Amino acid sequence: MARKLAAGNWKMNGLAADLAEVERLWAAHPSPRCEVLICPPATLLSRMAERLRDTTYFVGGQDCHSGESGAHTGDISARMLLDAGASHVILGHSERRADHAETDAMVRDKALAAQAAGLTSIICVGETEAQRDAGDALPTVKAQLSGSLPDDPALLVVAYEPVWAIGSGRTPTLDDIARVHGAMRETLAIRFGPAADDIPLLYGGSVKPANAAEIFGVPNVDGALVGGASLTADEFGEIIAALG
Ligand code: 13P
Repeated sequence: MARKLAAGNWKMNGLAADLAEVERLWAAHPSPRCEVLICPPATLLSRMAERLRDTTYFVGGQDCHSGESGAHTGDISARMLLDAGASHVILGHSERRADHAETDAMVRDKALAAQAAGLTSIICVGETEAQRDAGDALPTVKAQLSGSLPDDPALLVVAYEPVWAIGSGRTPTLDDIARVHGAMRETLAIRFGPAADDIPLLYGGSVKPANAAEIFGVPNVDGALVGGASLTADEFGEIIAALG
């Protein structure tokens, strides 16, 4: 049985003043039954980790470089994230695949670096609207999984984020989520055997307090990767409560 995880992706949002939100969140939800993770921009990582040091919440990065160190201006290594207080890192988010031309092979190399540093990778996959309309959602997700995953199932979370559902207010039907998550579990089982059962599978894309409970009721959905609704303690708190 996979652990339940509510993960917030702040994307390129958040200044020092916004750290108060995570303190409000902890005050309102000090003993969730699920794991709670917040991935702020890198500029806030160590300060957020410091504020949450005496809590059970986890803090994570939104990307890392595949190398250990060196001449890579603007990049951050997995060990640097760990050093700043992170336990997780989001990898292969569709916004990075689109904005930074990240390929499956690059995502896999980053995941190997994250594993080597002891960070849990949240590997993101998901089809575009055109791929969905062409009936290619499942083959797209399976191909991304086989290309992006590291060989070791330890320290691994997978997030299904249909690109067209991100920030759009639209979500797949519950049947569609069930179909994709079931296929992901099967693909992981072929690759990793029984260990696949322990890999949390998150759904992401317009998760809100209003739809969280029904999405969490779908088989093989072990939590959510939440963008916009993770920015405020009130909304993210409701999603945590729906999961845990
Ligand atoms: P929204 O929840 O804002 O749709 O974003 C989802 C996402 O991309 C999380 O990584």
